[in-house]
Amino acid sequence: TQTLVWPVSEFGEIINLYQRAKASARRIFDLADTQAAVRDADDAEPLQVTHGTVEYDGVSFGYGRGTVLRDVDVTVPGGTTLGIVGPTGAGKSTVVELLVRMYDPDSGAVRIDGQDLRTVTLDSLRSAVGYVSQDPFLFYGTVRENIAYARPDASEREVEDAARRANAHEFVRNLPDGYDTLVGERGVKLSGGQRQRISIARAVLADPDVFVFDEATSAVDTETELLIQQSIADLTAERTTVVIAHRLSTVRHADTIVVLDDGRVVERGTHEELLARDGLYANLWAVQAGQIDDLPPEFVAR
Ligand code: ADP
Repeated sequence: TQTLVWPVSEFGEIINLYQRAKASARRIFDLADTQAAVRDADDAEPLQVTHGTVEYDGVSFGYGRGTVLRDVDVTVPGGTTLGIVGPTGAGKSTVVELLVRMYDPDSGAVRIDGQDLRTVTLDSLRSAVGYVSQDPFLFYGTVRENIAYARPDASEREVEDAARRANAHEFVRNLPDGYDTLVGERGVKLSGGQRQRISIARAVLADPDVFVFDEATSAVDTETELLIQQSIADLTAERTTVVIAHRLSTVRHADTIVVLDDGRVVERGTHEELLARDGLYANLWAVQAGQIDDLPPEFVAR
């Protein structure tokens, strides 16, 4: 499903290589953590989830050169939903990558129920936090095995229930061998929207304490978009959720929305509060609603 983009210039090629490297890093992480940059501390303890409260406390971070997140303070009370929006490159994906501990902050801390993620075992963190990335990784195996990844003991019934709740059952049934269809590398090619729904089914089955969803930037058709929005609504109910949205309608009903710009939280509030402020969020909303063609110049600085 990798689209080949022919670079028109050296610059284009670099961008393309960079994006592919980034995408594959994310894919590897989704599955296991063989390549993860972080390791268990010697005295790491299993994470104990009580309320599922997620907290970013003065978090700054950069990938080597330059700062990507600047002093981010965000608390997501257990059971509530946080939406993250903002322009491309603002640092949204990085925020969730710190929550699944792909990286550690340069300063400040990310905590779940008061426990600094650096002090807990990666295994316990990975089972507590379900992460559906933009471009989920499917390993070479059957659809069933891919869904049951976190719970290999799950019954056929449970796998299908999870797929139904993820709005994946219909298309899976129509694959050549249904749930026994081989997917992943060398297997049947699935669209991005289909892979995301399989990954959502995986999360439904894993029943994590915290659910993290990175909405795909790439266009999916409206029907798929609705199916995906519906299926995550199920997962987010009564569970701490962090959703990165490219289509603002996805987080319209979130308990809190934070707007990131250039690594900083520039606005926060509910949808209604943010519209009333008439800042970046309100203007992004107006663009997506087709009310204005483009962001006004004061929001496209840099
Ligand atoms: P968003 O999700 O809002 O588009 P990202 O978190 O993906 O933003 O990226 C924030 C900034 O960090 C961007 O400038 C991006 O180029 C940079 N960045 C993201 N991932 C990496 C990486 N693995 N290595 C180096 N720079 C990165």
